[in-house]
Amino acid sequence: MILSGGDPLILSDHRLAELIKLLEKVPHLRRLRIHSRLPVIVPQRLTPELIHLLSGSRLHSTLVVHINHSAEISDEFSRGAAQLKTRGVTLLNQSVLLRGINDNSELLAGLSEKLFECGVLPYYLHLLDRVEGAAHFEVEISRAVKLHDTLRQRLPGYLLPRLVRETSGEKSKSPVTSRHC
Ligand SMILES: *Cc1c(COP(=O)(O)O)cnc(C)c1O
Repeated sequence: MILSGGDPLILSDHRLAELIKLLEKVPHLRRLRIHSRLPVIVPQRLTPELIHLLSGSRLHSTLVVHINHSAEISDEFSRGAAQLKTRGVTLLNQSVLLRGINDNSELLAGLSEKLFECGVLPYYLHLLDRVEGAAHFEVEISRAVKLHDTLRQRLPGYLLPRLVRETSGEKSKSPVTSRHC
């Protein structure tokens, strides 16, 4: 079961606890995944109750955060992430490749390494969705693929996020490779 955007952590711990209790009653459900940007922008959201909730469930919990730049990683986030990790919650990160913000292999390699130190594994590196008003952040596909190749050479495989984009109507994200250049 995936709880995803909007942002599920907008819900109070109480509401989430009620929801998770209901989900736990569904026999075939085994995993719970929450996608949220809140733990990064408001690290206080990683309350002891939330940590307890995610680690104490019968469902194996995964929290996917959304960090684009290592400057977004606060000490408070790192502490919360460490607690989740020690209690068996899987932590993953997705980033969006943004021109002028993180379109640099040095910086992305640093992000992967810093995430790992917090117990978070890089999962996805997204090409920007073409939404109105964001064109100035777009990185050309050929550059994105080159950046990703450089990253692959610099990082161990488990710290390399998958370069993907979303195509509307498709059931999963599509990997972006040199075939797309
Ligand atoms: C891609 C995506 C999912 C699904 O994740 P997969 O790991 O590809 O199955 C869920 N929520 C959001 C917000 C996503 O971007």
